[in-house]
Amino acid sequence: MKPRVAVHKFTSCDGCQLAFLNSGEALLTLSDLVDMVHFSEAGAVELDAQVDIAFVEGSISTPDEEQRIKKIRENSQFIITIGACATAGGIQALRHFANTKEWVSSIYASPEYIHSLNTSTPIASHVKVDWELWGCPVNSSQVLEAIRSLLSNATPRIKQDSECMECKRKGNICVLVTQKQPCMGPVTKLGCGSLCPTVGRGCYACYGPKENSNPQSLGNWFEQLGLTREAIAQKFLHINNQAPVFNKAGTYFKGIKISNE
Ligand code: SF4
Ligand code: SF4
Ligand code: SF4
Repeated sequence: MKPRVAVHKFTSCDGCQLAFLNSGEALLTLSDLVDMVHFSEAGAVELDAQVDIAFVEGSISTPDEEQRIKKIRENSQFIITIGACATAGGIQALRHFANTKEWVSSIYASPEYIHSLNTSTPIASHVKVDWELWGCPVNSSQVLEAIRSLLSNATPRIKQDSECMECKRKGNICVLVTQKQPCMGPVTKLGCGSLCPTVGRGCYACYGPKENSNPQSLGNWFEQLGLTREAIAQKFLHINNQAPVFNKAGTYFKGIKISNE
């Protein structure tokens, strides 16, 4: 019997599912090796399926989602989160720094129908997550590599080095050193193929914090480049603002103490 795989969606833009779908021929090969039992973006719907591997896109931002992720955990041997929303709250976690009620009232004509939490939290804050794949969106080759590893009974290897390593290997000219652009590469996990520096643009850390990063030190460097502390805070309190190390650096530069609750 083929291993069963599901791809679940929570609060997100669907971009990580699309990245998965855009894997091209590799996805066709994959469909020979596994049974894709739930992947609503691709057509298969079996929400409560028991599976070997469940990929989860999106953050937890409604009471319904708090319950649904627990069921998925019960039904899945392994859970792999995909993308910044699922691993660090996503851009929608900016609500942690605002009044959610006010936002909802200003956007929806009938806010009483919106059942939203005041928080947008990573999947790992609610259930045990076996592996996390970061990025906004996630890189489809990382997703396929994780599946291949599990199909061979191996542990997926998730690289933890900095984006700078990947950038250097590509032979890019450093935009931080040569152009004084506030590039987040030194504190960001590699995996995107160095997309931004390759086109002469600083990294904005969509792959989240690398292991043992020192964001406060990088923030001090940005301050010497002339950035205001507010501008530095915004760099850390962005797509991955619920990643603890970025959250700590961002709130430090913002000069506030914020609870994640
Ligand atoms: S991580 Fe980015 S691309 Fe993926 S679902 Fe969230 S917002 Fe979309
Ligand atoms: S451009 Fe950015 S990612 Fe590349 S080496 Fe410089 S700081 Fe690192
Ligand atoms: S260079 Fe940075 S911001 Fe750009 S895609 Fe890669 S991790 Fe994301």
